[in-house]
Amino acid sequence: MIKAVFFDMDGVLYDSMPAHEIAWCETFRRIGMAFSPTEAYENEGRTATGTINIVFERSIGRKATDKEVEDLYVIKTQLMRECGPAKPFPAMKRLLPELRRRGVSVFIVTGSRQPSLVDKLTAEFGVDSAHLITGRDVKYGKPNPEPYLMALERSGERPEDCLVVENAPLGVESGKAAGLPVLAVNTGKLSDSYLSAADKLFHTTEEVESYLLQTI
Ligand code: MG
Repeated sequence: MIKAVFFDMDGVLYDSMPAHEIAWCETFRRIGMAFSPTEAYENEGRTATGTINIVFERSIGRKATDKEVEDLYVIKTQLMRECGPAKPFPAMKRLLPELRRRGVSVFIVTGSRQPSLVDKLTAEFGVDSAHLITGRDVKYGKPNPEPYLMALERSGERPEDCLVVENAPLGVESGKAAGLPVLAVNTGKLSDSYLSAADKLFHTTEEVESYLLQTI
């Protein structure tokens, strides 16, 4: 019996990955470091620091300094803003309140650390800060199990009574490493094989909605 559902945010609640792809590629282009659109999806779910360090290590053989991380994060955030506000997936806007109405706890588990995140999630999905785990709350972030273990602990439920909904390979890895059942929805550009570790795979948020409403 499902008592809590832990949703990833980008690519699950919001159709925001195209903007992340554009913003990451342009951010690294400005400092002369290679980063492909595919890599934006392969690294999705990491904290910004994690992604920046991977690219720095590969390009110049060292991690980024805290200042470099902050400077790049400011650029990336500005580029994201220029892409316009992320649109919620309509099926998810219907699904989250309906799950809560049926007595299921709903948590959001994201690597993002935008300052305005709580306000946005509260306004658009009715999520309060007690049900939100962000990049600011974690030390390691996805693909480490840490963020989903935090959600599990906060929910007070048993792992088998919870469900993770993820779109990213590293997010699926994180959820599985936390010992949780994972449902994947491939809303991005990678092939399904990237998500093969998930227990179930869907291709649209509407499929996720109808599956969960039939199951719960
Ligand atoms: Mg995601």
